[in-house]
Amino acid sequence: MRPVTEHDIRTSFVNCSKGEAKRLDLPRDLAQHPWDDLDFLGWRDPGAPERAYLVAERDGPLVGIALRVTSGASRGFTSRSMCSMCLTTHTSGGVALMTARRTGEAGRQGNSVGQYLCVDLACSLYTRGKREAAGGGVIDESLTVEEKVARIRANLHSFLDKVVE
Ligand SMILES: [Zn+2]
Repeated sequence: MRPVTEHDIRTSFVNCSKGEAKRLDLPRDLAQHPWDDLDFLGWRDPGAPERAYLVAERDGPLVGIALRVTSGASRGFTSRSMCSMCLTTHTSGGVALMTARRTGEAGRQGNSVGQYLCVDLACSLYTRGKREAAGGGVIDESLTVEEKVARIRANLHSFLDKVVE
């Protein structure tokens, strides 16, 4: 994705109040982010662990999505779970259910969309082999990096389509 500024991020949110968008904690060192390797910018709010944010380009314009993190029920140390965005498998605690309130009328009626995501929201980096899941969680598959990138982008866009009216 293209590099974005603090102003770009704060004005991109579609499913939270303007007040929340103004106050939320942004990732540090935005200028140093590996933008070429990111399909979306995702981060956890350091001051509020139950909050996470995802910012991505949707047919050009930036769309910011506020997420609520539900800590998944732990099924023991050896259990594994898979991120539905990048399909990386993690040991317990590496994946969490994150829920986004939908925009528009659906959101006003309380509808939301939930997805299991890597807790560090570094899906783009796992996809490109730039970060490894603890416990070596990449499924042995024959896809090239380009094919995996196409897949994560398709998953990302279908998620955005479900959230944004
Ligand atoms: Zn992921």
